[in-house]
Amino acid sequence: MKYVIVIADGMADEPLEQLNGKTPVMEAKTPNMDFIAKNGYTGLTINVPEGMTPGSDVANTSIMGFNPSMLKGRGPLEAPSVGVDLNSDDVAFRLNFINIKDNKINDFTADHITTEEADKLIKALNEEFGDIGSFYTGVSYRNLFVIDDLDTEDLINTPPHDVVGGDINEYNLKSDKYPQKAEVLNQLMLDSIEFLENHQVNQKRVAEGKLPANMIWLWGQGAKPEIGNFPEKYNLSGATITGVDLLKGISGYINLDVIEVPGATAYFDTNYQNKVDYALNSLEDHDVQFIHIEAPDEAGHEGNLPEKIRAIENIDSIILGDLLEKLPEIDEEYTIAVLPDHPTPIDIKTHTRNPVPFAIYSTSIDDPDSVEVFSEDMTDGRYGDVLVGHNLLSEMIKIANNEE
Ligand SMILES: [Zn+2]
Repeated sequence: MKYVIVIADGMADEPLEQLNGKTPVMEAKTPNMDFIAKNGYTGLTINVPEGMTPGSDVANTSIMGFNPSMLKGRGPLEAPSVGVDLNSDDVAFRLNFINIKDNKINDFTADHITTEEADKLIKALNEEFGDIGSFYTGVSYRNLFVIDDLDTEDLINTPPHDVVGGDINEYNLKSDKYPQKAEVLNQLMLDSIEFLENHQVNQKRVAEGKLPANMIWLWGQGAKPEIGNFPEKYNLSGATITGVDLLKGISGYINLDVIEVPGATAYFDTNYQNKVDYALNSLEDHDVQFIHIEAPDEAGHEGNLPEKIRAIENIDSIILGDLLEKLPEIDEEYTIAVLPDHPTPIDIKTHTRNPVPFAIYSTSIDDPDSVEVFSEDMTDGRYGDVLVGHNLLSEMIKIANNEE
C-alpha cells in the first residue's frame, strides 16, 4: 500500500462576490479532486489547534501526523536548511536584516537584500559580536542567530512583518523572568545599527539607491524541537517534497526524507511536473509521500484570484492527474488524500484558523460517502467537521486496512 498526501497550501477560501458566492476551489476546474471526493471519504479537518497561530509550520505538522503543540519558534525549524545542527542547550533565533528609519521598522526585508550581501554582513557580525552567539547565513534577509542559553527561549518576541512602522524600542525582546537576558540581546540589536550602517555593503547599497540593511531583528526563537519520529510512530517510511525551507526543517526533525526537486520555487512558477515525477520516483522506495505546493497560499497573500484559481487547476491536472494515472503502475493498492493546510482567503490576504476540507480516496474503499464534489462545504461527508488534523494519516491507514 502506498500513501500520498497532496497539500495545497492556503487553498481553502471564503465565498466571493466576484464568483457569485463560489470559492476559488468551487470555481476552478478540478475533475481529479472531484473524483477523489466522489469515490472516497470527505470532511473538514482542524489543523490548527485552539490557541495556536495558523502558520504553515503548525498546520503542516498536523498533516504530517503529529500534534503541533511541540513546536516552538521558526528559528529552530529553519536551522536544518541553513546547515545548522542544534545542540541540546542551543536556542536558534530567526535573524532578519531590516531597514529602519527614525527608529521605526521601515522594511522587514531590508529591500530584499541579496544572499551574497547578507553573507558578507553575517561574517562581519560574527567577527564583531561572536562572543554573544553565532550568526549563520540563510537566504536574503532570512538568517539565523544561535545562542547557547536555553533561558532565551522564553523571551517575548515580535515578528517584524507584523509591526512595520512600529518603534524598535517598543517591539524588542521582553521578559519578566529574565530581563537581563532580553537586555543583552536588545543591546546587540541596537549595537548592530551603527556597525551595519558603516559596513561597505550598505554604503554601496545606499550609493545605488537601495535601502541599507541597517539593523538585525531577532525573533521566532526556540530550542531543538522534539516533535516525534515518523517511521517509529507509523511503522512506515516517508518523504516530503516542498519548496519551503520551514517544511523541509520539520520533515527532517521527524525523520521524513526530504526530496529535492529542481524548479520547486514555492511560487506560481514552480515546476509542477517535476514535483509529481519526483514523487512517483520517491514512492518506489517510500511508503508515504507528502507533496506540498505553496502557490495557492502566495496567491492568497497577494489577493490574486486568477493566480489562485490557476494554481488550484495546476495541482489538479498535473499533480493529481498524473498520480491517479501512474500510481497503479507502482502499487495496485494506494490511498491518496488532498487538502489545504489552512485557508488563505483572497479577501483577507492572510491565514485563518478555520477547518479545511479534505478528501481521501483509497483502492480499499467500496462504500464512498455521498459527497460528489470537492469544496469547503463537505460537512455532509463521512467525517463531518470534527477530524483533528494530526489524526488524518491514522485514518488513511485504517481505511487502507479496512479497519474502520
Ligand atoms: Zn500554509
